[in-house]
Amino acid sequence: MAYTINDDCIACGACADGCPVNAISEGDGKYVINADTCIDCGACAGACPVGAPQA
Ligand code: SF4
Ligand code: SF4
Repeated sequence: MAYTINDDCIACGACADGCPVNAISEGDGKYVINADTCIDCGACAGACPVGAPQA
């Protein structure tokens, strides 16, 4: 089960910079995780200032 980014995202980009497999990209008003690429490492959740990435 991949992480997903909820609507609390403020599109700061910190998670994308820290993802080891480049699974995160900028979407429409928030960032989105490619579920096929995500390896569930949790780095995005740790990097996010608002807790938007959820397991
Ligand atoms: Fe990238 Fe890890 Fe977050 Fe998945 S859990 S999107 S691999 S940083
Ligand atoms: Fe959105 Fe959090 Fe990623 Fe910033 S770190 S783009 S607020 S999910």
